[in-house]
Amino acid sequence: MLKLNFHPTGRHFLQIPGPSPVPDRILRAISLPTIDHRGPEFGALGLKVLQGMKDIFKTKHPVVIYPASGTGAWEAALTNTLSPGDHILMFETGQFASLWNKLATRLGLKTEILSWQGTDEHLPNAPGWRRGVQADLIHARLLQDKNHEIKAVCVVHNETSTGVTSNIAAVRKAMDDAKHPALLMVDTISGLASADFQHDAWGIDVSISGSQKGLMLPPGISFNAVSPRAIEASKTAKLPRAFWAWDEIIEMNKDGYWPYTSSTNLLYGLSEAQDMLAEEGMDKVFARHQRWAAGVRAAVTAWALPIQCADPTVYSPILTGVITPVGVDADAIRKLIQQRFDLSLGTGLGKLKGRMFRIGHLGDSNDLTLLATLAGVEMGLKLAGVKLAGSGVNAGMDYFAKNV
Ligand SMILES: *Cc1c(COP(=O)(O)O)cnc(C)c1O
Repeated sequence: MLKLNFHPTGRHFLQIPGPSPVPDRILRAISLPTIDHRGPEFGALGLKVLQGMKDIFKTKHPVVIYPASGTGAWEAALTNTLSPGDHILMFETGQFASLWNKLATRLGLKTEILSWQGTDEHLPNAPGWRRGVQADLIHARLLQDKNHEIKAVCVVHNETSTGVTSNIAAVRKAMDDAKHPALLMVDTISGLASADFQHDAWGIDVSISGSQKGLMLPPGISFNAVSPRAIEASKTAKLPRAFWAWDEIIEMNKDGYWPYTSSTNLLYGLSEAQDMLAEEGMDKVFARHQRWAAGVRAAVTAWALPIQCADPTVYSPILTGVITPVGVDADAIRKLIQQRFDLSLGTGLGKLKGRMFRIGHLGDSNDLTLLATLAGVEMGLKLAGVKLAGSGVNAGMDYFAKNV
C-alpha cells in the first residue's frame, strides 16, 4: 500500500516537464501567513503581481489571473471571445493541442484541426507529433476562407507532450499575409518564463499560461493575457461564462482585488518568482534553458536514441522527449527509474504512450541536477537492457563543462 508520508532521503528528482521543481525561495514565500483578501496589503500584492505578469507576457494590456489550472484558462480564452457554433482552426502538435480541441468541442465550438502531412520512420502513427505548427498550412487554409467563417486560430507554443516550441511570429505573419481577421490564441502554459514569448509584438489576442511549469510555482493559478481586440470580441461573444468572465475581474483588478477569493499564498509565490526572473533578466533565463536543453540533447545523441522533436529549428528549451527502441516500453523504464532512483520522468501521452519519455529541464535545476538526472536515465536504460551507443552522462558533462 502507498504510504503517503513516505519520504526517502535526499531530494526527489521531479524531472517531469511540469509541475517543475519549485525553488526554496518560492516555497518560503508561499508559507507566509494568509492575509485578508479585502485588506490593504492584498491590494498592493495584487497590483504588483498583475504588473509583473504584464512584464513577463511582454504586454501593455490586461492579464487575468485565475485560481485554476491551465485547463481553466483554456476554457476562459474560448468562452470570453466566441459564440456557440463558431468555427475555429487548431493545429495538432501533440497531446495538449488535442486536449484543447476536445475542450473546445465540448463547449459547442466547431473545430477544424490541421496537422503536418508526412511520414515518420520512428513514430508512423504520430508523424505530426515530432514537428511544430506549419504556418504555411494555416496560411493556405485562411486564404480559402473568403467569408471569414473562421473566428480564431488556436496554437500551442511549447507542446509539452513532445518537446517542440513552435514559431508563433510565423503564425501571425501567415494570418496577416492572408489578411484574415481571426483572433490568434496561443497556449504558452509550459513556455512562458522559460522560452521567449512576446504577447504584443507577436500580435496575439489571447495568451494562456499556468503556474506550475516555466513559472516554477506549484500548480493552482493560470493566466489569460488579452489584447484590445479580444476585449472587443468579449463584448459580443455569446458562450456562457460566469467564473471566467473577464469584465468583472479586470474591473476589480484596477485596485488589485478580485471578485472572489484569490489564491493568496500562491500569489506570494508568484511575486517571488517574478522577483527572481527580474533579478536574473529574462534573456538570461531563456539562454539558461537553451543551454540545459543542448546539454540534455548531447546526452540523448550520445545514447543514439531519437529525440522526439525531429526539427532542430523548433527544439524545446523546456523539455526533451526521448523515443525508446521498438519493443521497449518507455513506461516500464520510467517506473524502474522512479523506484530505484527516486527520479520522475514525463510519460508518453496519448499516441506516444509507451514509445517515449520526457526529461524536464525547467524550474529549480542546475547543471549538476541535470547530470544526476541523465545518470538516473542512463542507469535505467541499461538496467532495462537498452543498447546505448555511448555515455550520455559523459556527453552531458563535456557539454556543460565546455559551454559556459
Ligand atoms: C500542462 C499543460 C496544459 C494543461 O494545464 P493544466 O494546468 O494541467 O490544466 C495545457 N497545455 C500545455 C501546453 C501544458 O503544458
